[in-house]
Amino acid sequence: MKSLYDPTRDEIATILEGEPKYRLDQLWTGLYTHFKRPIDISNLPAALRTRIESELPESLIEIRRETSEDGDTVKFLWHLLEGQHPIETVLMYYDDRATVCVSTQAGCAMACGFCATGQAGFNRHLSTGEIVEQVVRSAREAALRDRRIDNIVFMGMGEPLANEEAVWGAVERLHEDIGISARHLTISTVGIIPGIKTLTKRPLPVNLAVSLHAARNELRNELVPINTRYPLEDLMDTCRTYLFEKRRRVTFEWALISGVNDTDRDARELAGLCLDLSPAAHVNLIPLNPTPGWPTVGSSPARVAAFQRLLRDLGVNATVRQNRGTEIAAACGQLAAGQPVSVGIRNSRERD
Ligand code: SAH
Repeated sequence: MKSLYDPTRDEIATILEGEPKYRLDQLWTGLYTHFKRPIDISNLPAALRTRIESELPESLIEIRRETSEDGDTVKFLWHLLEGQHPIETVLMYYDDRATVCVSTQAGCAMACGFCATGQAGFNRHLSTGEIVEQVVRSAREAALRDRRIDNIVFMGMGEPLANEEAVWGAVERLHEDIGISARHLTISTVGIIPGIKTLTKRPLPVNLAVSLHAARNELRNELVPINTRYPLEDLMDTCRTYLFEKRRRVTFEWALISGVNDTDRDARELAGLCLDLSPAAHVNLIPLNPTPGWPTVGSSPARVAAFQRLLRDLGVNATVRQNRGTEIAAACGQLAAGQPVSVGIRNSRERD
């Protein structure tokens, strides 16, 4: 079944056959410029609004909405209309703009042990419409605070490049119809090489983020199991080609896990990989957030700072990701969609 945000403009034109030509523009603008539900697009005749509502229902049923104490992070829990699977979306407000972190699958099959989504397993892929709708519904909420969505990160539940076609459909819709520039669209991957290669051939130069977490195969095999299939050497070659073709910087994400991947040796190995790319990869450090199924804690603030300093001394640009929404389990790696994520575990970062 198709949902409201699945059909392309041409497909909507077919659905509107028999209507005056300008109805297509009215409906499309209502949906993607004003983020309205069909029933609220007042320049459409009532009968047509009702027909669209019933033929093309929205695909996300809102189950819960949680807001962080400072009000700047909102986490939505939805059930998919088709199959009732739970997924989550995170809306983050900044001074004058807002970012949406979208899910691309219900669950995830990559099985990274430190990630709550990975611990919960895979249900199904999301369609283009189900991905786009997460942005539209977030945009409606942001409009109430007079904020426009200008940045999308494909960093919610799921592995975007295991569902590349649907994700690319969403990228095009967000870019062309919602008007988000390619430099404000970031796809994060665990390192699915065929997916990165497909992305390299796509026309828009979106940002690529690779969840590295280890710079030697032996450790990465443990932390990110798909590394046994797509080892580091091949992954780096694929990133190099992406950089060359797209002229976009690549970011390496690195969840700092105390005593596991936060030693000076790790920093030196990581710097080696970064500097091997041209321009050098940027590093995004994320102190590990607590999840129920993983015993190890995040690195202390002192260790995070030392790791960052060492990378910088070695000539690598590294930033520490601002931790958002940990108390509502909305931070990186905590999206489990209704599974009981214990946010009572305090990591060492908070203890210091
Ligand atoms: N599957 C894709 C998209 C998810 S992005 C990917 O892995 O890139 C979510 C990011 O949060 C990834 O970089 C992931 O490795 C990281 N992450 C997962 N669990 C985490 C945790 N417990 N603490 C901090 N970051 C985590």
